[in-house]
Amino acid sequence: MEAVVDLIIIGGGPAGLAAAIYGARANLKTILIEKSVPGGKLLNTHKIDNYPGFKELSGTDLAIKFIDHAESLGIKIEGDEVSKIENIEDEIKTVILKSNKKYQTKSIILAMGMNPKKLPIKEYQTYFGHGLSTCIVCDGVFYRNKDIAVIGGGTSASEESLFASKIVRNIYIINLFDKLDVVDSVKEKIIQAKNIHIKYNYELIKINGDGKDISSITIKNRKTNEIENINVSGVFSYIGWIPATKFLQDSKILNKDNFVTIDFKTGKTKIRGVFAAGDIVTKDFHQVSGAISDGTNAALSAKKYLDSL
Ligand SMILES: Cc1cc2nc3c(=O)[nH]c(=O)nc-3n(C[C@H](O)[C@H](O)[C@H](O)COP(=O)(O)OP(=O)(O)OC[C@H]3O[C@@H](n4cnc5c(N)ncnc54)[C@H](O)[C@@H]3O)c2cc1C
Repeated sequence: MEAVVDLIIIGGGPAGLAAAIYGARANLKTILIEKSVPGGKLLNTHKIDNYPGFKELSGTDLAIKFIDHAESLGIKIEGDEVSKIENIEDEIKTVILKSNKKYQTKSIILAMGMNPKKLPIKEYQTYFGHGLSTCIVCDGVFYRNKDIAVIGGGTSASEESLFASKIVRNIYIINLFDKLDVVDSVKEKIIQAKNIHIKYNYELIKINGDGKDISSITIKNRKTNEIENINVSGVFSYIGWIPATKFLQDSKILNKDNFVTIDFKTGKTKIRGVFAAGDIVTKDFHQVSGAISDGTNAALSAKKYLDSL
């Protein structure tokens, strides 16, 4: 077991990295644990044009700036997954990693973000990673000059379709509803893109293929029950998100949808010494600037809490 630290931050997306910067500047002995590559969803975002101070920049470039900043202040980013927190209600809490390593800490900031919801179809397991994906920025390049389907009608589906429109031949957005749920500026770009075709009021019924490659999808009109097949080589799913809070399921800080409930003034959860920030908290809008603000709040509150011990 390592020596007791002041603060463990779980998740290295914008919220966790902002918290790390504030933690380091407050002289807290801080460790950030990230199960994948630090940067979080920024790494799946090709272009950010609404982060104040930067008119346009790639998600990866913004992530690199955050990581550089945190590391320049001496933050240790440990590559591992948190699988459990023991004694979460005690003053000294134990964070257990997948590798079985354990850290003892006086405070914790939860910043694990969200994971994409799985498509509720039989073929999910067969094709996930074989033509079915949840990240066009990562996998879109494999469909250069081919046709793809995007399932969903929100911000992620819309922004990712715009990104794909520069790479693939045709994009079919399969949208359950009769309009896209996205800001007008993005909606206009989608409507102007000649290779994006929106199928309103349709649901995905089936992915067809030979078990190795996708050849088409079957969709059904929710108003007329009309069935249609569309030939595509790839399917990208954006049907919603679930918070990455599974290891907290027995704690008393989750709401019915498994998001973490906090006091927005302070980032505090109901458990002393446990704070939360970013997409995992109960809120309406999921944006980088909001995640940074939450991370800042949580770290400054953690400092105040530690000073009070
Ligand atoms: C396609 C797309 C486009 C977007 N475009 C924009 C945009 O233009 N502008 C904007 O402001 N926002 C945009 N967003 C939203 C923005 O990216 C998120 O709101 C933001 O990244 C949330 O930050 P976060 O730190 O809360 O979570 P995340 O970025 O999701 O980071 C969470 C991190 O925690 C890690 N983690 C999870 N569980 C564990 C665990 N058990 N142990 C260790 N680590 C763990 C994950 O690997 C991840 O790195 C976009 C999102 C998507 C998906």
